[in-house]
Amino acid sequence: MSPSQAGLPAPHPEERSAPTAAGALVDTHGRVATDLRVSLTDRCNLRCSYCMPAEGLDWLPGEEVLTDDEVVRLIRIGVEDLGIREVRFTGGEPLLRRGLPGIVAATKALRPSPEVSLTTNALGLERTADALAAAGLDRVNVSLDTARPDTFATITRRGRFEDVVAGMAAAQEAGLRPVKVNAVLLRGVNDDQAAELLAWCLERDYALRFIEQMPLDAQHDWHRGEMVTAEEILAQLESAYTLTPAVEPRGSAPAELFVVDGGPATVGVIGSVTRPFCGDCDRVRLTADGQVRNCLFAREESDLRASLRGGASDAEIAERWRAAMWVKRPGHGIDDPTFLQPARPMSAIGG
Ligand code: SAM
Ligand code: SF4
Repeated sequence: MSPSQAGLPAPHPEERSAPTAAGALVDTHGRVATDLRVSLTDRCNLRCSYCMPAEGLDWLPGEEVLTDDEVVRLIRIGVEDLGIREVRFTGGEPLLRRGLPGIVAATKALRPSPEVSLTTNALGLERTADALAAAGLDRVNVSLDTARPDTFATITRRGRFEDVVAGMAAAQEAGLRPVKVNAVLLRGVNDDQAAELLAWCLERDYALRFIEQMPLDAQHDWHRGEMVTAEEILAQLESAYTLTPAVEPRGSAPAELFVVDGGPATVGVIGSVTRPFCGDCDRVRLTADGQVRNCLFAREESDLRASLRGGASDAEIAERWRAAMWVKRPGHGIDDPTFLQPARPMSAIGG
């Protein structure tokens, strides 16, 4: 029976040339996606200025968001049929999802058992870190752009610095190590705080990585000229520390890693815009409303929720997912004059 006979949505025109054989999530450029980013909600309790406006966004209606069972079914298909080996939960703020420990436990119980991590702002982590570790969570990445409470309040528009710090400590205590920290530097706000934040992280044994600001904000305020570049970040860090390139190959990991003052600590810089790593990308994304995106910057999505709710079999869903990946573009094209920011912001895609 064809998808349309089964009441399923017609595939995107580009998907029709995709291979139908069983197997991994490959694309026409030979990349294989093994790392699945799952957004569990588009809602958030912070309002980081580089991510969303002060008033928030029009959140997805509840019935459009995948249920816990639907999320777990798609992850199971990814792991069992499509070669997914790492699952990272994100959002919005994934700790706002009540079923998170259950979703983590069900994901970890799959075979082969994937590496399971969480990207979070750490609000509420103080309360939930033990339960998440018990559910099988392996690691957390906490987003923290500054070690100063006042700068934190300026960037996130909420005075919750101490709660974040407590959440990070709880994660470390619960064994969710290494606690990784993701930081974005903003011109005129915290662009002079790179070395200070590194010192703060080194003291606490957190692994810090700076990420270049990307054109994924809901307000479309990003300007390339204002972006703090990887080169600038490295120059700032080198004014306070001796950095030597870490020996391990970068592979598909986006961060360029540097050993700090002879080690063992390292710091990473992710030049998503000025030093793109698209050629080695192994990621695929699932939005909270069940759309597969083959790239953060993709302009097309593939509606797996419609397939799920239309009664598709696991094999049909896997085939649709493979077809969506097959047409992944070679790069994000931010430098291309024809570049268009995707319709959804980072918080709705899952960062
Ligand atoms: N709320 C969680 C958090 O902040 O970690 C998860 C979702 S958030 C969208 C994921 C990551 O995206 C965070 O590390 C955040 O700093 C980053 N991010 C958001 N907007 C960004 C932008 N325009 N450029 C670069 N990184 C961005
Ligand atoms: Fe929320 Fe994360 Fe976006 Fe900040 S970066 S507003 S914490 S989703």
